Amino acid sequence: MKVLVLNAGSSSLKYQLIETDDEKVLVKGGIERIGIEGSNLTQKSEKGEYKVEKPLADHTESFDLLIGCLTSPAFGGVLKDISEIDAIGHRVLHTGTDFKGSVLVTDGNLAILEKNIPLGPLHMPANIACIKSCMKVLPGVPNVAVFDTAFHTTMPDKAAMYAIPYEDYERYKIKRYGFHGTSHKFVSEEAVGYLRSKGLPWDKIVTCHLGNGSSITAVKDGKCVDTSMGMTPLEGVPMGTRSGDIDASVVEMLCDRKGMTPAEVTQYLNKKSGFLGVSGVSSDSRNVLAEAEKGNYRARLALDMFTYRVKKYIGAYAAAMGGLDCIVLTGGIGENSAPLRKDILEGLEFLGVVVDAERNEKCPRGRIFELNTDGSRVKILVIPTNEELVIARETRDIVKKA
Ligand code: ADP
Repeated sequence: MKVLVLNAGSSSLKYQLIETDDEKVLVKGGIERIGIEGSNLTQKSEKGEYKVEKPLADHTESFDLLIGCLTSPAFGGVLKDISEIDAIGHRVLHTGTDFKGSVLVTDGNLAILEKNIPLGPLHMPANIACIKSCMKVLPGVPNVAVFDTAFHTTMPDKAAMYAIPYEDYERYKIKRYGFHGTSHKFVSEEAVGYLRSKGLPWDKIVTCHLGNGSSITAVKDGKCVDTSMGMTPLEGVPMGTRSGDIDASVVEMLCDRKGMTPAEVTQYLNKKSGFLGVSGVSSDSRNVLAEAEKGNYRARLALDMFTYRVKKYIGAYAAAMGGLDCIVLTGGIGENSAPLRKDILEGLEFLGVVVDAERNEKCPRGRIFELNTDGSRVKILVIPTNEELVIARETRDIVKKA
C-alpha cells in the first residue's frame, strides 16, 4: 500500500510517501514558510533532490503544489498519477477527550476535530485544512487521523488530572494530554522488542524524546502511565524556546510588571524562554553548548537546567512505576548529543543506571545502540525515532480494517 504521510505545522507541511509492504520511503519532502514571504518546497527521491520557490498563501495551496511535485518527473516525482496513492495518514495534534486512537476521517470525525481547535489553535487548523484538501483533490482515497496525544490516553486520572476544581475539568476538559505520542509509541515498542529478544525485563521503561521540543514518558507494560507535557506542549522540561514547568503565578506577575496580556505571556513562555531565554544565545542546543564550552555562564546554566530536569523526571517516573528496566533516548538531542546525554545519565547509579562513557561518545547514528555498561542493571538505549513510519503503519491498519 502506498501511504502519503502528511505532517502539517502552523507554517510548514512535511510529507513522505511510504510503501508499507517493505516500509520503503519513496519520497520525502517539506514545505516551509507557508503564508510568509519565501515559501518553498524541497523534495527528495531516488531521482534526486529538488527545490521549488513559490508564494504559498495557505495549506490548501501548499497541498496542491505537493501533489503536482509527487507526479512531476521534473521534480523527482515518482508517481505517474495521483490515483496510485492508496491512503493518506495525517499527523493530527489533538484527540481531545473524543478518541483513544487513530481514526478514519469521516464527516462526523471531521466535525469533532473542528470542535477541538481550541485545544491546539496553532496546529489543528493546519491539520484540518490538509484533510479537507485531500478530500477535495483525492476523493475516494481514505484519510486517517493519527494523533500526537493518542498514546497517552492510557494515563490514569491521577496522572492526567490537574488539581483544579473538578467541574472545570468536566466543563473545559482541562487536563494533561501529552504530546510526541507517535514517537514515544515507536521507540517504546522498539525497546520492548529489543529487550524481549534478549530475555531482559521490559515492563518499566522511561522514554525521553529530546529535541527542539522535549517530553519524557513513563511506559509500564507497554502503556503510557505518565508524561511530562500537559494540556499543551508547554509543560515539562525546559526546551529550545519553551520554559517547561513553571509556577502559574508567574503569568499574573508578568502581566502586572511588563504590562503583558495573558496571551502574550503564553507566547513568551512558548517562544522566548527555554535554551533561548536563559542563555540569550540560541534555541539550538549545539550553539548553546559551543558557548558554554567557551565559559558562558548563562549558556551552561540553560543546559544544566535541562539535563537536571530530565534527570528528575527519570527519577520521578521510576518511582511512579515502582522500578526501572530501561531508559530510551531519542530526538535530535537524544540521538546525537553525547555531552547532554552524559549529564542526564550520570548520577543515576543508585537506580542501577550505569552509562559507559566510551559507548556514549561513539554511539553510531541510525540504529538501536546500548549506552550502558555490561554490568548496568538498567539498559540505556538510543533509538532513532520514526514518527512517519508509525503514521503509515496505523493508516494501513485502519484502512485494512475499514
Ligand atoms: P524537532 O523537535 O524540531 O523535531 P529535533 O528532534 O531535530 O527537533 O531536535 C533539534 C535539537 O537537536 C536541537 O537542539 C539540536 O541542537 C539537536 N541536534 C540535532 N542534531 C544534532 C547533532 N548532530 N548533534 C548534536 N545535537 C543535535
